Amino acid sequence: MPRPKKRTAASRGGKAGRVEGLSRSSVVEDRQNGESGRVVAHHGVAVLVRFDHGGERQVWLKPDQRVFAGDRVIVVGERLIVEPAHGILRRRDARGRERTIAVNLDVLGIVVAAEPREPPGYIDRGFVIARAAGIETVLIVNKIDLEAGGDLADRLSEIYGAFTDVHRVSATTAEGVEAISGLLAGGRLGALVGPSGVGKSSLLNTLIPDLDLRVSALNRRSQKGRHTTTTATLHTLSGGGFLVDTAGFKDFIAVDVDALDAASFFPGFESALERGCRFRNCLHRTEPDCGVLAAVETGEIPSRRHRGYVELLDELAGSLRPSR
Ligand code: GDP
Ligand code: ZN
Repeated sequence: MPRPKKRTAASRGGKAGRVEGLSRSSVVEDRQNGESGRVVAHHGVAVLVRFDHGGERQVWLKPDQRVFAGDRVIVVGERLIVEPAHGILRRRDARGRERTIAVNLDVLGIVVAAEPREPPGYIDRGFVIARAAGIETVLIVNKIDLEAGGDLADRLSEIYGAFTDVHRVSATTAEGVEAISGLLAGGRLGALVGPSGVGKSSLLNTLIPDLDLRVSALNRRSQKGRHTTTTATLHTLSGGGFLVDTAGFKDFIAVDVDALDAASFFPGFESALERGCRFRNCLHRTEPDCGVLAAVETGEIPSRRHRGYVELLDELAGSLRPSR
């Protein structure tokens, strides 16, 4: 079985699946007898598993059993074998604790819109978090039907077009949403993140027509009380693939991103980093003979983008602590 490469995945532990108190041979035997599937909803004490060969079943969890929406599992009788996971998305709850929203994410869609504008640094932060977790990232410019929509999409394409697709969509007119479904074809798992009000719930509703998410101001006001028992739900798209319902979650966070790795995930620093720095542990803040700072000097990296990077470093310094 392939071992997870990233620290993020490895830190959840589990070499042969997370089943405590079982010998390796019985795990192998169980794998053959069990039925494999994916956790599509987490209800605290139980999870709903959608089997690869069709059908769903609720399985009760053992106390302290760590399973998340998106987990690949094998159900053996009343037991769950949980496969090692990649692509972990987290948030901070109301009490400041880190919570896993979903695992095994293949695609993260960072949703922005001309109205309301994203806070500075939001997109870069999303990129760094997703890249560190090994999740493919795309930019989704929603509300393209608004007059300012095209300009925003053009501006973002200039900055990010070299690294990722910039999708122009409208939840209102359904323009461009087919391309979003296409990203998840073949059973891939995606999530939409973005500031409040950019249209994440509206997009989910457009992508999954039988879904009835509350949209707009009402949605925002009632966020606090939502998702208290359900950690996350995966919605199935008609063309295959799943979308995590992140509508009730205020924010996602940078955890497990090492400050020394942040630059390598920061969009736009790629070629400057290839030229190298004098110090191996260069953080590209103010160090001498730094490839990134040299690129800022020549204007290859706009100084505004470098400032954004330094702000992200500061944020990471504040959030680096043990989790789970
Ligand atoms: P969320 O907080 O990101 O889930 O955003 P909502 O889905 O609740 O949408 C916020 C507001 O934007 C609502 O008033 C929606 O009707 C509106 N909205 C969402 N998508 C679009 C769009 O594509 N075009 C326009 N013009 N408005 C949209
Ligand atoms: Zn450097």
